[in-house]
Amino acid sequence: MRSSALDNEETHVYDHRKLGRELGLFDTDPLIGSGLPYWLPDGAIVRHSLEEYIRTAERAAGYQHVYSPVLGKRELYEISGHWAHYNDDMYPPMDIGGEQMVLRPSLCPHHAVMYRSRSHSYRELPLRMAEIGAMYRSELSGVLGGLTRVRAIQLNDAHIFCTLDQVADEVAAALALIGSAYRAMGITGARYRLSLPGAGKKYAQAPDMWQRATEILRRVLDRSGTPYDAVEGEAAFYGPKIDIQVTDHAGRESTLSTVQVDFHQPERFDLHYIGPDGAEHRPIMVHRSIIGSVERAVAHLVEHHGGAFPAWLAPVQAVVLPVSGAQQPDADQLLGRCQGAGLRARVDHSEAGSLGARVRENRLVPYQLIVGEAEALSGEVAVRLRDGRRLPARSSDDVIARIRALLEAHDTRLWID
Ligand SMILES: [Zn+2]
Repeated sequence: MRSSALDNEETHVYDHRKLGRELGLFDTDPLIGSGLPYWLPDGAIVRHSLEEYIRTAERAAGYQHVYSPVLGKRELYEISGHWAHYNDDMYPPMDIGGEQMVLRPSLCPHHAVMYRSRSHSYRELPLRMAEIGAMYRSELSGVLGGLTRVRAIQLNDAHIFCTLDQVADEVAAALALIGSAYRAMGITGARYRLSLPGAGKKYAQAPDMWQRATEILRRVLDRSGTPYDAVEGEAAFYGPKIDIQVTDHAGRESTLSTVQVDFHQPERFDLHYIGPDGAEHRPIMVHRSIIGSVERAVAHLVEHHGGAFPAWLAPVQAVVLPVSGAQQPDADQLLGRCQGAGLRARVDHSEAGSLGARVRENRLVPYQLIVGEAEALSGEVAVRLRDGRRLPARSSDDVIARIRALLEAHDTRLWID
């Protein structure tokens, strides 16, 4: 359904497609193809900041990052079960030198093969393998739009190979990572969903496996006190999952983050680890994504914040505004100090218009640093926050240090005194 009738300014809902174009974040071109957005410089900054946040949080949580190719042999997906259960969403194979190659519909099979490439002792578990990698979905052109329905997806993915005893703690830790990320991004999930299999051939047939995996997820959710709805027919083909749902500007719900317990793929890929008894044992795979696809996460952030991103995600974090041409040298000097401190900053000089006009022009920038005659003389700066608060002039060193501390903490508050 096209939603142009719903893009109603009066309801103060933001359509990320419209805003993304206006703010110069991303766009599409019919020559590249629908469902294949490209990222403009300001959008690339938002995406890069998000990816960097995720990688840092994952490293701190004991994940190791890998890279794997976006293509794989058809046989890889026959083994994983994607070919049998997920074929409708996959691109047709390409014949290359007599071999059938497929654009990958998920990262799991690559990670399973990478795990299998080395022998593992129980002492290495849980082994947490993470990658922000591309995957492809053969969406029909009728349902494509902006960043939410795309044909090429950058997924914040990870697979945790662990023992049965470790699964519950790993699921709980993944939910905690998701909680921290949502706080940093200034968003909340609309609801938690326990996604169970439904009827039909879409799901791998192994009743015992489904039951055990579902029990683990239920127990973790119950213990955490998180309210959730159990919904049949929404599981992955290989296992049940916890989905964190968000809603878009038109009220449509979609999954952002997910945690899944999988007994199926370790079996299919014949994965094992050497236990304390010296024998081979089968690990369990926990699939988890903190922010889901980078595309959908950014779409949601754009709509939720109306382009006024938390400062650590903002394409421009500080703008220096000299009151008149006389303060231009001081403004340039302050810009250099902001940039030297790692802030994404620029100057909007007085030729660009009156101070009031420049303040309005930069209304989405979290920090406006105003340099007038008095400030230039005293080496101070007057700060105007995006929410309209004006702070008395203070030393620019102090201002920069406070902004930096908030950015490094991924704090959504604009100022703390
Ligand atoms: Zn996976």
